[in-house]
Amino acid sequence: MEAVLHSFHGRNAVVTGANSGIGRATIDLLIGRGACVLAVDLDVSQLGGVPAITVSADLSEDSAPKRIAEAAGELGDLDLLVNCAGVGGSKRIAETDDALLDRILGINLRSVIRLTRELLPLLRRPGGAIVNLASVYGEVGRVGTTAYAASKGGISQLTRQLSAEVGPEGIRVNAVAPGCILTAMTRTKIDNDPEYRRAMIAGTPLRRVGDSTEVAEVIAFLGSDQASFVNGQIVAVDGGWLASGGHFQE
Ligand code: NAD
Repeated sequence: MEAVLHSFHGRNAVVTGANSGIGRATIDLLIGRGACVLAVDLDVSQLGGVPAITVSADLSEDSAPKRIAEAAGELGDLDLLVNCAGVGGSKRIAETDDALLDRILGINLRSVIRLTRELLPLLRRPGGAIVNLASVYGEVGRVGTTAYAASKGGISQLTRQLSAEVGPEGIRVNAVAPGCILTAMTRTKIDNDPEYRRAMIAGTPLRRVGDSTEVAEVIAFLGSDQASFVNGQIVAVDGGWLASGGHFQE
């Protein structure tokens, strides 16, 4: 029988940041393609009606990875970990106080390393996959993105480093680097700051912002058997923003 494209039947996945935006689109897509999903967010009661196993956890808390691993262990071997939870709100360095720095690095980078460390023993060998959420802001310099850019640059490098470390065990590690995607994280700025909206659209060769489902499709591909020889890659899903330097070109 011909393999179904990006089928997840019989596969187990953990997805963080499951309540909203890209994480929510990813769990909907994975469940639709047959996966059994463990969905993690601050308050998963918002996921009522979604046929997923849920864990409420603040990933920045030290006890979170162990609780998530315990729940994931009930599923059996883990096929996919999607580290999607994240926060924005970065500022220029002079306005980046310690609390903001600790919050952004703590959630976007430290918690990803800690959860991955805890779940790695559960990942199928060979065949397991990890997909991290990087960002175009982790790839190029942009004013006002200090802590966020550092956290996402860290995610890109973590992805490359880990792909080398666990590749020999048959586990693949990749990341997506979204451009401007319309989600709760970006909506306020896009809706209320016409200059920001204009600049993001003008700097994107496709001349629009992206939708969460367009990122989820690439996450699913990277987590699927169809990407079986893709490892250590940071895949931009940005309408061409990085390729064009994020600058308007006629
Ligand atoms: P979103 O705000 O819609 O979703 C983020 C989710 O993460 C929320 O449900 C939130 O509750 C959860 N979360 C935040 N802190 C948490 C914590 N401490 N513990 C548990 N859960 C927590 O944002 P999104 O746009 O869907 O972002 C998803 C990922 O994509 C993030 O890592 C973000 O940095 C990345 N990203 C987004 C864009 C974009 O344009 N939207 C661009 C590049 C990268």
